[in-house]
Amino acid sequence: MNAAARPQLSFLQQQIDEMKAKGVFFRLRVLEGEQKAIANFDGKEVINLGSNNYLGLTTHRALRRAALEAIRRYGVGAGAVRTIAGTMRPHAELEEQIARFKGTEACVVFQSGFEANAGTVAAILSKEDLIISDELNHASIIDGCRLSKAAIRVFKHRDIADCERLCQETANWSGHKLLITDGVFSMDGDIAPLPQLCDLAEKYNCIMMVDDAHASGVLGRSGRGTVDHLGCHGRVDIQVGTLSKAIGAMGGYICGSRVLIEYLHHRARPFLFSTGHPPSVIASCQAAFTLLDSPEGERLIKKLWANTEFFQKRLRKMGFSTGSSQTPITPILVGEAAKAFEFSRLLFEAGVFAPAVGFPTVPQGKARLRAMVTAAHKRADLERACETMGTVGRSLAIVS
Ligand code: PMP
Repeated sequence: MNAAARPQLSFLQQQIDEMKAKGVFFRLRVLEGEQKAIANFDGKEVINLGSNNYLGLTTHRALRRAALEAIRRYGVGAGAVRTIAGTMRPHAELEEQIARFKGTEACVVFQSGFEANAGTVAAILSKEDLIISDELNHASIIDGCRLSKAAIRVFKHRDIADCERLCQETANWSGHKLLITDGVFSMDGDIAPLPQLCDLAEKYNCIMMVDDAHASGVLGRSGRGTVDHLGCHGRVDIQVGTLSKAIGAMGGYICGSRVLIEYLHHRARPFLFSTGHPPSVIASCQAAFTLLDSPEGERLIKKLWANTEFFQKRLRKMGFSTGSSQTPITPILVGEAAKAFEFSRLLFEAGVFAPAVGFPTVPQGKARLRAMVTAAHKRADLERACETMGTVGRSLAIVS
């Protein structure tokens, strides 16, 4: 028998009802089969602009093969947290591989990018310390900041002058200071002014941390991220990456000095208190990093950027606003949340899956579609997606 919610939870029903009244309630779409450029969600075949599968690696032969081989050799689970008995040979090898790739002394893999951010910020800072953070930083950074109990000052998005104002105001802070930014912002697709932020971190003696979840596999040589793309090697103390987007599998990591990584082994709570990755996931990631540094990786990254340019130019020509995007993350600005959700729903009916995002994922009044271009899209897919967006966009008076 399914138990109905008891009255103690009726306040949640009220909130759900409010979401429904505002037109922003959604149900999870279910993907039948693989995460591909043309995919079947809820039994309907659509052009898939919803995934972060930048290079199409979720279904790549080499990654599948590596996972299967690891299952044969090691079984399906790590069986323990990494600090007790769950560090297997593939974990150690992947961490060495990523550190070499990024040009840092060491690396530690977390269960997700979210855990990497939240676990690291909360581990290295405490209530005597200070965090200076971009207003559009990812939720996992915000949660890490709150968990650390450090004081938090937020600067206007990508605004160096505002950041310096905060640095000046807190110049005599007695505790440690952390300056933290996304490398690529997940909802707008713009790139952090990293060299200038590094200047401030050096001038005001802050630890510098960058979350490159959306830059790894996308920007820099062979996808080495914003630190490489913007020539900031040696200036960023803590680099975050994810294994869940361009790398195609699941997980997150921190790269930095050996002392930082050894400290995180002892103090990062998600690392200490949650079981390590299954070896198959780790083996897929190893195959993905090997691929990034090969001619095939180079070809995929080139295709990703060519597709991005084609798609965004076409949308802008039709009158859509793609905001300040400089990367494959393509916001299609709508404004009102209910209209963005309606736009997304009608597009889906017409065979294009571009999810809508509204508050609290983006600020109130800045609802949008978030369309993700990948290397796996064919030109014809993107052309058809743009045409459909034009037709539906005109019917809703989003473009004329
Ligand atoms: N940082 C940013 C900027 C992100 O967009 C995301 C994913 N939404 C994460 C971190 C978390 O990564 P993961 O999905 O691996 O937890």
